Amino acid sequence: MNDYALLVDYEYCTGCHACEVACKQEHRIPAKKPGGIKIIELIEELPGRKLDITYFPLLTRFCLFCAPRVKRGLLPACVKHCMAQCLKFGRAEELAKKTPRKRRAVLWAR
Ligand code: SF4
Ligand code: SF4
Repeated sequence: MNDYALLVDYEYCTGCHACEVACKQEHRIPAKKPGGIKIIELIEELPGRKLDITYFPLLTRFCLFCAPRVKRGLLPACVKHCMAQCLKFGRAEELAKKTPRKRRAVLWAR
């Protein structure tokens, strides 16, 4: 899976946790155990006592890019179930070309 990567474009991540649930269901991971992806919530206080919330999908060491699904020609479970289309899976080289144009994005490779 070295040629593949997952682009996390978290600008529009709503923190819905669907990716976490999809990962645990796909890999039969109990709800309380860590899965392949975790949503980190960052709350920042802005001038005027306004709060800004950022949701950041973090890939953990348990993520193996859904190798069995990808071998069958399917997308990783988290990518398939993200309605906001924050997650993109593909060839690392192609995704790396798109990353610098994104304002809030991280490219994960294995
Ligand atoms: S790629 Fe697969 S293993 Fe990795 S976080 Fe997504 S669903 Fe979980
Ligand atoms: S990455 Fe997608 S599925 Fe996961 S919390 Fe963000 S919006 Fe929801």
